[in-house]
Amino acid sequence: MRIPCPNCGERGLEEFSYRGDATVTRPTSIEPSSESAWLDYVYLRDNPYGPHWEFWHHISGCRAWFRLKRDTVTHEVLAVALAAEVDGEDHRS
Ligand SMILES: [Zn+2]
Repeated sequence: MRIPCPNCGERGLEEFSYRGDATVTRPTSIEPSSESAWLDYVYLRDNPYGPHWEFWHHISGCRAWFRLKRDTVTHEVLAVALAAEVDGEDHRS
């Protein structure tokens, strides 16, 4: 599989690390009533069939974090954007 890094261009999968589902939203409340939301956030993930947004880290390259929209059936890459451009936060380590 080839991954298109927004900074470096297309590279081999071995240069990247999958960093999880990019559609999960962290709960904002720390009240006990939000325990169910926290359990879902920490432990539950969907197993999507088709297009899905994921976080990737170019660990052996520019070290950028980015979101990649990938079809989980065909592995076709549909879109890519630096994580910092999407949510305004700097995810680089
Ligand atoms: Zn890169």
